[in-house]
Amino acid sequence: MAAITMKNIVKKYGDGFPAVNDVSIDVADGEFMILVGPSGCGKSTLLRMVVGLEDITSGDMMIGDKRVNDLAPRDRNLAMVFQNYALYPHLTVYENIAFPLRLAGAKDDEIDQKVREASKTLELDEHLERKPGNLSGGQRQRVAMGRAIVRDADAFLFDEPLSNLDAKLRGQMRTEIARLQKRLGITTIYVTHDQTEAMTLGDRVAVLKRGVLQQLASPRELYENP
Ligand code: ADP
Ligand code: ADP
Repeated sequence: MAAITMKNIVKKYGDGFPAVNDVSIDVADGEFMILVGPSGCGKSTLLRMVVGLEDITSGDMMIGDKRVNDLAPRDRNLAMVFQNYALYPHLTVYENIAFPLRLAGAKDDEIDQKVREASKTLELDEHLERKPGNLSGGQRQRVAMGRAIVRDADAFLFDEPLSNLDAKLRGQMRTEIARLQKRLGITTIYVTHDQTEAMTLGDRVAVLKRGVLQQLASPRELYENP
């Protein structure tokens, strides 16, 4: 786990108005930070700069005390949890969770121990032999989180993970993500355009508008001082 610090981050595409304009946000170790704002406000661009999928025009991106501006995504030790979860449909839950460890060349004993530990925490231990197609949306989400946990990622990054779900499931998943984040204590940045998600999920909320940080406060402070 690690703090993530964005210092005076600017992103310009071509000559236009900056997509992200001098944004500074400090995400504490273990904190759940929400990035919220209307479509086009720059939240995905900002998240992609944290992960390393987008070059930074100026400013400093820090993970822990390391400046990562020039580090490739695979060298940042972050776990992006995608909207479609990016699970392998032909692999079991066990093998999906084990995948990054196999890729890293870990021994079978170590893999087994880590997969079982993670699946217990995520309440997936009874589903290890199933395939993603037979799981609920919530279970799939947890498998994706399991893959991040076994490789000790420094942080979870979510980009609108619930936007394709119906309202009921969205509510359940919201509760589940918030609960697991607290249990795992893993630094988390979560992008959404949904006000309800923003006000119920995180420890703090960063509100973006046209690339500019408008507010950075707890949901309670935002509620009392909108
Ligand atoms: P959000 O995630 O809040 O919807 P984005 O970060 O996707 O916003 O986009 C912020 C702004 O940057 C928008 O004006 C968008 O059109 C622009 N933008 C995003 N990606 C690119 C790109 N690859 N090239 C040019 N402009 C882009
Ligand atoms: P989403 O809502 O899922 O973020 P977008 O429509 O914002 O999807 O962006 C989809 C893709 O198109 C992204 O990879 C983004 O970088 C790119 N993109 C967005 N806006 C622009 C733009 N104005 N010019 C070029 N590419 C863009």
